[in-house]
Amino acid sequence: ARVVDPGGDDEERRIESALRPRRLIDFPGQPRVRDQLGLVLEAAKRRGTPPDHVLLSGPPGLGKTTLAMIVATELEQPIRITSGPAIQHAGDLAAVLSSLAEGEVLFLDEIHRMARPAEEMLYLAMEDFRVDVIVGKGPGATAIPLELPPFTVVGATTRAGLLPAPLRDRFGFTGHLDYYTADDLTTILTRNATLLGVEATPQGISEIAGRSRGTPRIANRLLRRVRDFAQVHGKGVVDHPAAMSALSLFDVDDRGLDRLDRGVLEALCRRFGGGPVGLSTLAVAVGEEADTVETVAEPYLVREGYMLRTPRGRVAAPLAWTHLGLTPPAGGGT
Ligand code: ATP
Repeated sequence: ARVVDPGGDDEERRIESALRPRRLIDFPGQPRVRDQLGLVLEAAKRRGTPPDHVLLSGPPGLGKTTLAMIVATELEQPIRITSGPAIQHAGDLAAVLSSLAEGEVLFLDEIHRMARPAEEMLYLAMEDFRVDVIVGKGPGATAIPLELPPFTVVGATTRAGLLPAPLRDRFGFTGHLDYYTADDLTTILTRNATLLGVEATPQGISEIAGRSRGTPRIANRLLRRVRDFAQVHGKGVVDHPAAMSALSLFDVDDRGLDRLDRGVLEALCRRFGGGPVGLSTLAVAVGEEADTVETVAEPYLVREGYMLRTPRGRVAAPLAWTHLGLTPPAGGGT
């Protein structure tokens, strides 16, 4: 796995859970979503009713799960956690819904990956707090309505565009999470170094923040690697020299690019003169699958302005050339 992968496996999520902020006031970054969500929750608490259902969208590792847990904590309600891929049949969802307590928060991660019949059941449940349980099969099947106590769905998705409109419309509040500023990541890292019981200097923290691609999950992972390095090779302090050495050891450069990212840019500039070049040709040059280049390396490179996707193929932007210490061809470099 890449050290700059924004996704996390179950083991990493377990490690991360100790670092999650528990209250909205302790959640750095995303000021708009935080303020809007704070208002929605506070108003619901004053009314004594569950708030509108909440949809959180945005790239992996930016805090959707963390915010879902915060919603439950702020409402002083328990949270039930499941995910779209775990709900393959309407019956799976019916089982979860029928066991919810009044006011409980139901967190549905990757909600865009839920099976269609379950999605339809969810619309009804979110709107009318009711599910129709089908008893029997074929022409003799009957739908028995089951009333549910009011509850709050918090849905999370990395692909809001994939949600069918009727499902999207059932969410009264949608918060879109964006990449974090280096300042916000600095705040997060400083707090987490303390939670991990590691001494850290502002210069060490700032070096990690600058290479974390605006993503707290990556920042936390880099912090743990720098801590490891400092404990093995230094005095255990996350300072600037430790950050520089550890991040170089893990191949993360000063802009947060790793070996794959740089390989793509190198091929684009050195072998194809800056492009345009087709995705599959580029992937062969890097020795990777086209899908890996497209889904793993490109999103960040395009977002940060290193390369462009054009109808004629991939093209290096001036930033790619300068980052590699190369001179763009005259009139080239787009
Ligand atoms: P995925 O889409 O992969 O499920 P996610 O958006 O749900 O990711 P989280 O699991 O909430 O992301 O966050 C990943 C890690 O980053 C966690 O360790 C979490 O504590 C940390 N994190 C995210 N946002 C913040 C924040 N604003 N402040 C502090 N830590 C944060």
